[in-house]
Amino acid sequence: MSPANEPSFRESVDIMFNRAVALMDLPPGLEEKIRVCNATYTVRFGVRLRGKIHTFTGYRSVHSEHMEPVKGGIRYSLGVNQDEVEALAALMTYKCSLVEAPFGGSKGGLCIDPREYDDHEMELITRRFAYELIKRDLINPAQNVPAPDMGTGEREMAWIADQYKRMNTTELNGVACVTGKPINAGGIQGRTEATGRGVQYALHAFFNDEEGMKKAGMTGTMKGKRVVVQGLGNVGYHAAKFLQEEDGCKITAIIERDGALHNEDGLDVEAVHQWIAKHGTITGYPDTHCEEDGAKLLEAECDILIPAALEGVINLSNAANVKAPLIIEAANGPVTAGADEILRKKGCVIIPDMYANAGGVTVSYFEWVKNLSHIRFGRMQRRQEEARHQLVVDELERLDRYMGDAWSMTPDFKEKYLRGAGELELVRSGLDDTMQTAYQSMARVWHDRDDVDDLRTAAYLVSIEKVAASYRAKGL
Ligand code: GLU
Repeated sequence: MSPANEPSFRESVDIMFNRAVALMDLPPGLEEKIRVCNATYTVRFGVRLRGKIHTFTGYRSVHSEHMEPVKGGIRYSLGVNQDEVEALAALMTYKCSLVEAPFGGSKGGLCIDPREYDDHEMELITRRFAYELIKRDLINPAQNVPAPDMGTGEREMAWIADQYKRMNTTELNGVACVTGKPINAGGIQGRTEATGRGVQYALHAFFNDEEGMKKAGMTGTMKGKRVVVQGLGNVGYHAAKFLQEEDGCKITAIIERDGALHNEDGLDVEAVHQWIAKHGTITGYPDTHCEEDGAKLLEAECDILIPAALEGVINLSNAANVKAPLIIEAANGPVTAGADEILRKKGCVIIPDMYANAGGVTVSYFEWVKNLSHIRFGRMQRRQEEARHQLVVDELERLDRYMGDAWSMTPDFKEKYLRGAGELELVRSGLDDTMQTAYQSMARVWHDRDDVDDLRTAAYLVSIEKVAASYRAKGL
């Protein structure tokens, strides 16, 4: 956690926002209208468990309604409080705007340690929390659409969707009231991996940006780059797995809440993940050095540091010791405003949260559209596309026969070309395009403006400009 002399999470987000708007020419008053959180609803409700009533505190905060529905996850953690949900809701506004997901920003949270309750108890608690939010339209396909976040996943989203259906039996679009659902409850392929996949695509975009690489003092490709990951939850696990298996990165350290595994030759992400799933801890993982003070490894020598757990983990107490030339914020707010300044001065490049972890909400957007259109992506065109490809392959095969030994088709061309895109391929393609386009818009500002020397400020500028334009269009 951040030292006591640091601003709160929400203040930290505001400081970063203020740094960016100071470089903009917004109409008087608009800056404050965009910065402030529109509303935060606090609910305290009781659930009878184990023969006694337990009272829980939950929040849903709406940061900006310049577009509706507003969007953002629901977090289950003992660290949840009003300041945190408001900071996270603000980040959702900027994130959605940056990647052009047509939503305002929102966030919810429940103060709970989910590990203390069994499945049935979690269902009772989730349904009751959902009931409180649904009856106030704080969950609604047209107004406010939650999704998973830390401590929640498809299971909770399925309960929320079902609760909404029970309370709105004739609502045709009810299933669109929440995203991140399991496939058999209206979800979309590729949503679970989406945030981690987005982190991978963001790194691809960065490694293709020569000027950006130069600013970070980095060279070469992603192959062999040493990566330290903090948090092997849904986001950290998928990001690390894809980077290792598909890009040839070396995952040299994995930091978890109870320590860190360190191996300069690289760790097997899948094996560590399975170990944690089985034992609930990284302790005892075979043949690997386990560092008790895990956070120390945030300061390890590496090429890419991926904080994918909590906010505020890189703060005034350790920022000066961070050695990574590149940090990609897979978590929301892992670098405090104070640490950001120290790192910037050191020349460390930070790929900011609002861009780096936008893969989740991007695929949530696809899921919401799928739910509203009531049809799976690719269902209409896949066979037709395959039939057209077959025509080309038939012609190439004729040519192949005609040319004899002089020419032949590349071995796996036919198989690859014939396969029409299914939902997963389309989701990945849409996500890749989104991440690349958003990177270009940020990078242009970063490289072209003399008064902008970091990607975070660039991201805020692009994002706030779009929010401001939508307020202007409304005549506000
Ligand atoms: N909780 C995720 C985030 O912080 C996803 C939000 C969503 O899909 O609406 O971006």
